[in-house]
Amino acid sequence: MAVLSILKFPDQKLKLEGQLIDEFNSDLEKICANLLETMYANEGVGLAATQVDIQLSIFVMDTSPKQNSPICCINPKIISYKNEVVSEEGCLSFPGIHAKVKRYAEVTLEYQDVSGALQKKDAKDLDAFCMQHELDHLKGITFFDRLSPLKQKMLKKKYLKQRDSIT
Ligand SMILES: [Zn+2]
Repeated sequence: MAVLSILKFPDQKLKLEGQLIDEFNSDLEKICANLLETMYANEGVGLAATQVDIQLSIFVMDTSPKQNSPICCINPKIISYKNEVVSEEGCLSFPGIHAKVKRYAEVTLEYQDVSGALQKKDAKDLDAFCMQHELDHLKGITFFDRLSPLKQKMLKKKYLKQRDSIT
């Protein structure tokens, strides 16, 4: 397994979409294992393949307090949404930045596991927000894209200033 390097905003590759997967093999298992290792190493609760420059429709997540309940979602899609709320989110591609975005508090996610079996999961709150956030990544959308132009301008300034003070 390997910890992969995560694309950081404003890398334009974050706008690339994840392609659907139809072959479930050991290469795919390896990608999932690397995504999980990368997510844990960066203390994230979710990571999309497109964030590590792999344009495939896969994300991993683990919102459990002990980070011991990983799931790997292949070809995921949300088949029902309920109850719009505001969620405060961060993103491994935007270190140090948090923002409030509109999400649904309850969703049903359909996906395939690493063996190709179809799975369905009802989720709410943090799990639901995480699924929507990661699914966006697979469509080339970040939480930043969901903010108002004014908020984007403010956050970008803060982000670049902070980033440039580190490097
Ligand atoms: Zn993210």
